[in-house]
Amino acid sequence: MKINYKSLTIILTALFIYIGVGCFYIYQSEKTLSIQKYLEVSKDMKSDLEILIDEKEEAILLVSLALSQNCKIKKGLRENNISSTVFNNFFQIFQKESSLKNLWFQVLDNRGVSIYRSWTKNYGDSMINSRIDVKMMIESPKVISSISTGKFDMTFKSMVPIFYKKKFIGIMETISSFDSITQKMRDNKFDTLIVVDKSYKRQLTKASANKFIYDYYISNLDESKTLVNLFEHKYKQKLLNIPNYIIDDENNLFLSTYHLKDMNTNEMGYFILSKKLSDIDFYSRDKTIQKVILALLFIAFLIIGFAYYIYISKYKRYIEEQNQKLEDEIKVKTQELYYSAYYDGLTNLPNRVLFMDRLQEFLKFAKRKEVNVFVVCLDLDRFKEINDTYGHNIGDKLLKVVANKLQNNLRGGDTISRPGGAEFTIFVEDIDYNDMIVIAKKIVKMMQDIHNIDTIELYATFSIGISSYPADGDTAEELLKNADTAMNEVKKSGKNSYRFYNKKMSQLAQERVVLENDIKRAFKNREFEVYFQPKMNAKIEKIIGLEALIRWRHPEKGMIFPNDFIPFAEEIGLIGQIGIFMRYETMKITKDWIDRGLDFGIVSFNASTIELEDDLFVDSIRDMIIDMDYDASRLELEILESQSMKSREKMITVLEDIKKLGLSISIDDFGTGYSSLSYLKQLPVDKLKIDRSFVQDIPHDKDSIALVRSVITLAKNFNLEIIAEGVETKNQVDFMLRGGCENIQGYYYSKPKPVHEIEKLLIDNVS
Ligand code: C2E
Ligand code: CA
Ligand code: CA
Repeated sequence: MKINYKSLTIILTALFIYIGVGCFYIYQSEKTLSIQKYLEVSKDMKSDLEILIDEKEEAILLVSLALSQNCKIKKGLRENNISSTVFNNFFQIFQKESSLKNLWFQVLDNRGVSIYRSWTKNYGDSMINSRIDVKMMIESPKVISSISTGKFDMTFKSMVPIFYKKKFIGIMETISSFDSITQKMRDNKFDTLIVVDKSYKRQLTKASANKFIYDYYISNLDESKTLVNLFEHKYKQKLLNIPNYIIDDENNLFLSTYHLKDMNTNEMGYFILSKKLSDIDFYSRDKTIQKVILALLFIAFLIIGFAYYIYISKYKRYIEEQNQKLEDEIKVKTQELYYSAYYDGLTNLPNRVLFMDRLQEFLKFAKRKEVNVFVVCLDLDRFKEINDTYGHNIGDKLLKVVANKLQNNLRGGDTISRPGGAEFTIFVEDIDYNDMIVIAKKIVKMMQDIHNIDTIELYATFSIGISSYPADGDTAEELLKNADTAMNEVKKSGKNSYRFYNKKMSQLAQERVVLENDIKRAFKNREFEVYFQPKMNAKIEKIIGLEALIRWRHPEKGMIFPNDFIPFAEEIGLIGQIGIFMRYETMKITKDWIDRGLDFGIVSFNASTIELEDDLFVDSIRDMIIDMDYDASRLELEILESQSMKSREKMITVLEDIKKLGLSISIDDFGTGYSSLSYLKQLPVDKLKIDRSFVQDIPHDKDSIALVRSVITLAKNFNLEIIAEGVETKNQVDFMLRGGCENIQGYYYSKPKPVHEIEKLLIDNVS
């Protein structure tokens, strides 16, 4: 699947947004949770402090109450002499058993005169005028418990009236500092700075610490240097009025203030508290954040999972679609492959493979059921010519038309195939010999019609060979081969017909293979040779010319005559080579004679139509003439009347070219073909050779006589030379002479002879 960048971008963007929002959310929740926590800490701190203060106040009161009942004190009060040992004992007890460390005691009499002071030896002075609370107590003796600031410091103070026998005899006063509270706060990891409001500055005449900052008295100077510093420099008086808390990141501190009011609710003291941020227990916040992160991650995973699921199912669907497509393609391709493997693309008929397949299958059946089968091999005659003349397009169309015709004229069950070229094969099942003949004739007749292809009128015939199972073989290959042999026989013997295979044919076919190899070898071994047959002027009995004729001296079979291999050489394309050999040898030999002054007149050589059709034919003759510096007027070309070329125009041009070179041209075997006079007139020929077959029948056959006579007249009318070939008897010579044909070629004078024998004749001829 192609990566869909668009959706990928969307997914990634969404993911980034989600992560961004998630982070922001986490950040926000951490912030709010932290704030909540800080508020909680500050609240707890304040309530703790409140409780501690209350507790301490109560404790001091309790101490005063307890001491007010003490007999020793009462006694001392009555006797106006209190021993310090009494209080020393208390001290020790408090030091040991309680958190109350800094305690100061004073006992006053019912007039407000100090009887005992634990912090100094001085006593005996009256407090009634200097202390309003003392005055209040004396006027109405009842418990007074408060936090107040005196001349030393801000302290807890409780005053309890001492009664003896229901009579008010004195006051028990206990004073304590905030030490234990700061101590307890320290246990909770709080540093505390106790500051007394500046309105008390004047009162604090004997301040114990004597440290004022901005006129504020610092009660516990030594306890927190950091807080003192912050108060003095960084936050200054702001520290006194922290609404809830301050987070000092620089010092990693949490800061908060607790206000202490006096009885008239005026500011009296401040507890500035600090706690290291790291000491704040964020466990629950962190837990919550963790949960949030987990939840976000879970959602992210859910989303990713969902996206993945969608992607996978989409991908799966895509893969399935692709597979389906591939499958379809493969199906189509296999069908196409199957089709091209078994069918011919042009005619849509089965090809050779399928044909053989079906035939083989059917033969199996035929063997079991003893049914006979005919295999028919059809080849379009002259198809190559049609292709060459009109082009392959027309050739292909003709094949299609013919294929259709075959299909229409045969039974549905008969398998027709086109194995290639202009060949068709058919097998016909379960009919007898006569029925097969009917079919063959039907096909021949069917082809008699002229085929109209693209307004071109074409005449095409079939050469048909037939073999039959079981008579001619029992394998498909054998049957087809034999039908093919039969078809080739039809080709050789005039085409446009049918023939059944017989055993002799296959022998012939084998011989042909041997022959082909033989011819090829013959070239190598120089087994070919030129013979010459003289042409005579019967009137003066002189040689006026020679005809070069090929001979094959076969090492095993002896002399082989041209009729036994020339047609075959034409068929297999070796005739051109033979022609070149013959022309070269002929010209070489005769050139030598010319040079030696031996007069042979004109030498002629034979050329088949196939050679004439070769574009290089004229060139090859021209080259030889030039190479050998040969007098072309001594050369003659013999062409066969029966074989005149398909394209008359071409025939005329070739012959004209030959003539231009200086050669003369004669028409061989004249009388056997059916050349029209008008055609003959167009050809640039010089001579006619009356065919041997007519000469042979002279003087017995009237028709031959008549024909020879008319040929002679014709030649004269057209101003052509004439020669009779195959003249064997004196009678025939005389007949020709009488008829006006002086030139004679034939056994009567000489058979074709090898070079040295002809040489002798020529030497005699001169003398
Ligand atoms: P062709 O051109 O008609 O040659 C004359 C044939 O008649 C020769 O047969 C010759 O031996 C034979 N002949 C001549 N006088 C007599 C006679 O009085 N009585 C009888 N019975 N036969 C006579 P050959 O040499 O066997 O040639 C046969 C054919 O082979 C030739 O017929 C010619 O068509 C072809 N041929 C021969 N040499 C060549 C060649 O070099 N090239 C080509 N293309 N064809 C050739
Ligand atoms: Ca000839
Ligand atoms: Ca001839």
